[in-house]
Amino acid sequence: MSEASRMRVTLLGTGTSTGVPVIGCTCEVCTSADRRDHRTRSSCYVEAGGLGIVIDTGPDFRGQALRERLTRVDAVLFTHHHFDHVVGLDDLRPFFFANRRPMPCYARANTASVLVAMFGYIFQDGSYPGVARLEMHAVDGPFAVPDRYGNRPPVPVQPVEVYHGDLPMYGYRIGRFAYLTDTSAIPEASFALLHDLDVLVLDALRPEPHRTHFSIDQAVAVAERIGARQTYFVHMSHNVLHAEADARLPAGMALGYDGLTFECRR
Ligand SMILES: [Zn+2]
Ligand SMILES: [Zn+2]
Repeated sequence: MSEASRMRVTLLGTGTSTGVPVIGCTCEVCTSADRRDHRTRSSCYVEAGGLGIVIDTGPDFRGQALRERLTRVDAVLFTHHHFDHVVGLDDLRPFFFANRRPMPCYARANTASVLVAMFGYIFQDGSYPGVARLEMHAVDGPFAVPDRYGNRPPVPVQPVEVYHGDLPMYGYRIGRFAYLTDTSAIPEASFALLHDLDVLVLDALRPEPHRTHFSIDQAVAVAERIGARQTYFVHMSHNVLHAEADARLPAGMALGYDGLTFECRR
């Protein structure tokens, strides 16, 4: 199929806020030899229509970008403002060395305002030499990511509101792909935006319930309702041994892991 009708997604990171292994921990998962149990902080790279879109820039973004040899970023979509999703933002600077055009960032208004305050030297005072030319756009509905490198058609993006405990935040749908991290509840209106997906990426923290994340059982139930052709779970903690937990999942569902790539329709 042509580039215009296909998109490619790479899971840059699939771990919870601490990453796995957890500093100082000697548990079975943290010492596992299975590389799928080594989880950097959750993030994702989407190639659609020739554009490159990053969802969240956590503390591991630099290593992830080097590992996946990323050479192009047209825009960043932020899900929410927590540390593990945003603090790698300054490592976008090398993407400006050969291309000084501004890079749009998109976020829900509550996320955008925190990021603008947190990274004031970038978003408010862009005069410091070499600073990343990031431009924050607070969005509350569908938008389109423009081409930073040429004149390819813009890529439409649909924000999908979810709840992370009490915090309203965004997942994103691009074509027949949706990415919902850090989720403990999905409003009915958002389910309506999640029909006919090829691939769903969904938060599944651990077997036990948690106040601000889906457990694995909760995530499976939500994934069954959404009914994507394939679902990958992300944002796992060190309570999840990949081989063991993955083997228990229903058909069409699997644990994601760092570096996993897949294609789907736009
Ligand atoms: Zn998180
Ligand atoms: Zn551990």
